[in-house]
Amino acid sequence: MVNTAEARANIGVVGLAVMGSNLARNLASREGNTVAVYNRSPERTDLLVSEHPEAGFVASKTIEEFAASLSKPRTAIIMVQAGKGTDAVIQQLTEVFEPGDIIVDGGNALFTDTIRREKAVRETGINFVGAGISGGEEGALKGPSIMPGGSAEAWETLGPILKSIAAIAEGEPCVTHVGTDGAGHFVKMIHNGIEYADMQLIAEAYDLIRRGTGKSPAEIAEIFAEWNRGTLESYLIEITAEVLKQVDAKTGQPLVDVILDQAGAKGTGAWTVQTALDLGIPVSGIAEAVFARSLSSKPAQRAAARELAGPSEEWTVTDPDQFVEDVRQALYASKIIAYSQGFDEIVAGAEQYGWDIKKGEIAKIWRGGCIIRAQFLNRITEAYEENPELVALVTAPYFSDAVAEAQDSWRRVVVAAAQAGIPSPAFSSSLSYYDGLRAERLPAALVQGQRDFFGAHTYKRVDLDGTFHTLWSGDRSEVEQAGSSH
Ligand code: NAP
Repeated sequence: MVNTAEARANIGVVGLAVMGSNLARNLASREGNTVAVYNRSPERTDLLVSEHPEAGFVASKTIEEFAASLSKPRTAIIMVQAGKGTDAVIQQLTEVFEPGDIIVDGGNALFTDTIRREKAVRETGINFVGAGISGGEEGALKGPSIMPGGSAEAWETLGPILKSIAAIAEGEPCVTHVGTDGAGHFVKMIHNGIEYADMQLIAEAYDLIRRGTGKSPAEIAEIFAEWNRGTLESYLIEITAEVLKQVDAKTGQPLVDVILDQAGAKGTGAWTVQTALDLGIPVSGIAEAVFARSLSSKPAQRAAARELAGPSEEWTVTDPDQFVEDVRQALYASKIIAYSQGFDEIVAGAEQYGWDIKKGEIAKIWRGGCIIRAQFLNRITEAYEENPELVALVTAPYFSDAVAEAQDSWRRVVVAAAQAGIPSPAFSSSLSYYDGLRAERLPAALVQGQRDFFGAHTYKRVDLDGTFHTLWSGDRSEVEQAGSSH
């Protein structure tokens, strides 16, 4: 192992499991970078250095040596287990770093943890940057989408380094300074929430086509491959075709038929929904996607419910080609809703936490490297460039036109799913959201009446200023709350 106290590395990586070692290799492969590496267990460091002599890593056995190997301002990216591991490494680095140095947490931290950590580290004069990194192992090695938060000062040093390793989409690196403290991890969380919705919508599309037309997974793979040449072009559609084509070597059956139908989750989708509930933002498509995974993973309840009644009338698809086209349109419209809801949550989070997040820039940095990368994101960037104050993405002309064209198909698909007894939580909740959003009057008026009846929660009127209450247990006359019309 190369050991040196000479401060010659411009960037360091702490934590050399799969993500950290790939990110370190990515950094080392870019012109101008010399990369310091450190891992709690030295065996990982030794392995990385011996397997990749070409990288010219500057390796250390202690955190003190690691700090000494970095030129100033020292900049280190932490890629360790989220939670306690991250806190432990931050503690160690703050002891050996100096004011002006930069600690970057590239792990999957909850944004409120990042806000807390940034505040604590800032008090030492050291910069702390929470950076969401998407793209998995391959992205870390070849170019991820990077969503850094933190101070403008830290971005000055860090920006060029992150730009050098990020994915490139249409000539632009997929990284931007998202905002201060937890903004980067917040946006990464929303990215993952949208990813959940996108995956669930694709899964529903597959299920409906398979059960509606009887096509085989291989045939449906062809349909997805074709969709990938149109407006739905995206990494997730592309890999769906690959998964559906795969034949199980053990049984000769389609792989999708031998995979247990219980979807796992690591928690970022749930974070998106929990945060949305706190912010009061209806991210119903994302929530349904998270719940669909939960439902799938309840084998006892599913077994107990197996004999519950389904539709008594038989459902048949009379025109399979039209049905497939309807499902494609439903998928596109629901996807627009999922992104529109995700961006609503970004807007609400930015307002709540005081971040100046450029929505168009976020869509841009998701065009490459990350899991939801898609052509479609260009349209989102354009929509926010045209109108930075856009209050709901779905109302932008491009998207409202697309949904107008898709909506008849979308409605037919949701009706068909209900008639057939095929679950379509993401398709149908997205359609309900769309209809709720565009409704001139909502039954929320009745809910307000109910609230006033049992809890004297009061209501406002459409025709008068002020706040009112009906004396439900009295003579049912209406009283105005004192001073409420001023
Ligand atoms: P991981 O399995 O999450 O973590 C293992 C690493 O953490 C090892 O280097 C380990 O050191 C270190 N570690 C754990 N506790 C520690 C402590 N108390 N003090 C010092 N080091 C500690 O590794 P990973 O899969 O490479 O992921 C790294 C981070 O990236 C995580 O936050 C993860 O959520 C995030 N991330 C992962 C992906 C992905 O696709 N895997 C994508 C985006 C982001 P030892 O070797 O000494 O045990």
